[in-house]
Amino acid sequence: MLDLRNARRIGIIGGGIVGWLAAIALSRVFDPAVEVTVIETTALFPLGLGEGGSLNLIDTLCRNDLDLDVFIGEAGATYKHGVLYENWTGGGVPDRYYHLFGGPGIPEIEHHVDGFFPLLSARIAVGASLHTCIPGFEAIARNASHQEIDELMATGQSGLYPSYHFDDIGFEQYLKRVGLARGITSRESPVCDIRLDNRGHACALQLQGEQLEVDFAVDASGLARMGLGTAFNPHWRSFANVLPTDQAITFDLQPAGSSRQPLTRSTAMTAGWIWEVPLNRTTKAGYVFSSRHADHTMAIAEVQHRFGCDVQPRRELSFDQGYLETAWVNNVVALGTASGFVEPLGAALAAHTFEQLRNLERILTNGGGIAPAQAIEAFNRANVRSWTGVRDYLRLHYNGSRNDTPFWRDLASAELPESYAQLRACFQKRTPRFIDIEPYVGSGWQSLFHQVDWISVAAPLGVVPSTAARAELSQLPMEWQSKAQAYLDLLKGTSPTFRPRSGWRH
Ligand SMILES: Cc1cc2nc3c(=O)[nH]c(=O)nc-3n(C[C@H](O)[C@H](O)[C@H](O)COP(=O)(O)OP(=O)(O)OC[C@H]3O[C@@H](n4cnc5c(N)ncnc54)[C@H](O)[C@@H]3O)c2cc1C
Repeated sequence: MLDLRNARRIGIIGGGIVGWLAAIALSRVFDPAVEVTVIETTALFPLGLGEGGSLNLIDTLCRNDLDLDVFIGEAGATYKHGVLYENWTGGGVPDRYYHLFGGPGIPEIEHHVDGFFPLLSARIAVGASLHTCIPGFEAIARNASHQEIDELMATGQSGLYPSYHFDDIGFEQYLKRVGLARGITSRESPVCDIRLDNRGHACALQLQGEQLEVDFAVDASGLARMGLGTAFNPHWRSFANVLPTDQAITFDLQPAGSSRQPLTRSTAMTAGWIWEVPLNRTTKAGYVFSSRHADHTMAIAEVQHRFGCDVQPRRELSFDQGYLETAWVNNVVALGTASGFVEPLGAALAAHTFEQLRNLERILTNGGGIAPAQAIEAFNRANVRSWTGVRDYLRLHYNGSRNDTPFWRDLASAELPESYAQLRACFQKRTPRFIDIEPYVGSGWQSLFHQVDWISVAAPLGVVPSTAARAELSQLPMEWQSKAQAYLDLLKGTSPTFRPRSGWRH
C-alpha cells in the first residue's frame, strides 16, 4: 500500500515539458502545504523541436488550468487538425492521404450500426476519400488563415477538432513560469542517485552536495532515464524488431519551402520518413530513419534533394524505441520519455504521456492519497497495454504496399507482432471495430487512437480493402443498404434528397 496522506515533499527529476507538467498536476492533487520541487539541469542537448500535439493535449491543458491563449502565444502554437501522409504506398501520384481529427456533427462518424460506420464503409467500398466528409477540410486545403479557421470552428459546423503544433522550448518555459507562480520550487542540480529506505521506497534524491528528502518522486528525466530506470532497473521492452527507425536528424525549413497547412506533414522516404511541423515563423522538421539502411550523411543528402536547398541539421540523435515494463514502483513513477520512447508518428508519445499523467492523478485523487498495490499494478498493466496499442497503431502506418527500396522491402517481409497481425487479418474482411482497440485500454485508461483513427490510416493504405467494406455493407438489412447507396448517389451528385441523419441506429 502507498499512503501519501502525510506526504510533505514531492521531487520531480527533470525540468522538461513532462517534469513541469507533472509538477503542476501534482501541486493540484496534493495539499498546498506539500512542497513540490523540480530538480533540473540545463539540458545537455536541448532538442529545439517543433512538436505535433495529440488529441488529448487540450484536455491536459484545461485540466491543469493552463490558459489556451497564453499557451498559444508562449509556445508559438499553431493549429494541428490532423496529418498529411505522402508517399507511404509508393503508388505514384497522388500518393497522399489525410488523417483529419474529426469533431462532432459529422454524419459519417455519428452513424454507427452494428459496430461500424456504414457511411464511411460506403466511401471505402467505392474508393472515395474519407477526409472530405469533414466540412472544414475545404478551408484546410486552401490554406485558410488561423482566424478564418477559428471563425469556422465557432460556427460548430466545421467538423474539425483541433490540437496544436508547438515549440517545445517555448512550452517548457511557459510551464515553468506557471509552475513557479503556483508555488512549485526548482533546484538546479543533476540528480545523481535515489536513496531507498528498508521498504524499497525512495526517501531522498541525491543532488550535487546535498540530499532532497522525498515522500513521492516522478522520474521525468527523458532519455537519461536516471530515476526509476537506475533505482529499480525494470525490464526494457524494445520495439526494435517491429518499428524500423532508430536515428533522427532535425532541421529548420523556411516557410517558403514547406507546407503551411494546419497539419503535420509526414513524408515517407527511402529509409524512413520526414515530419514537417509548421510554426509561426519557421517549419521545424526532421528525418527519422533506420541505421541499417542509411547514415546521417545519406539522410542529409536526401533531405537536401527533397527540398532543393541546403539544409543544416540542428541535431543528430540515436534512440531505441520501446518502454520500461514497470513504470510505477512503490513511490516512484516514470513518465514520458523516461518511461519509454517511440518515433514521432501520430504524436503517440505525447498522447501516451498525457494519459499516464491523467491516470496517475486519477489514482491519487480517487484513492484519497492511499493506493493499494493492486491499483499501482493496474496502472502498470494498463501502461503496457497502451504501449502495445501505440506499437500496433504505428506499425500499421508502414503497411502500405511500398517496396521500392531495401528499407521498404525489409519491412514488407518483416514479422509482425502477433496482435497487429491478427488485426490486419480482420481488416481484410471488415473495417476496424471498437472491439479491436478495446484490449489496449482498461483500468480507467482511455484509448489514444480511436476506431476512426485506425480506419483513417488503414483504408488509404489498402490494409482495409474495398472488398472488406463491401462485404460488411452487404450484411446490413436491405433498408440500410439502400441508405448507403443513396448516400453514395448523393456523393456522386445524382441524388439531391438523401438525409443521412435519419433512420440510423447510433
Ligand atoms: C526526434 C524527436 C521528435 C519528437 N517529436 C515529437 C512530436 O512531434 N510530438 C511530441 O509530442 N513529441 C515528440 N517528441 C518527444 C518529445 O520531445 C518529448 O516527449 C517531450 O518534449 C517531453 O520530453 P520529457 O520532458 O519527457 O524529456 P526531456 O525534454 O528530454 O526533458 C528531460 C529533462 O530531464 C533533465 N535530466 C536528465 N537527467 C537528469 C538528472 N540526472 N537530474 C536532473 N535532470 C535531469 C534533462 O536535462 C531534461 O531537461 C520527439 C522526440 C524526438 C527525440
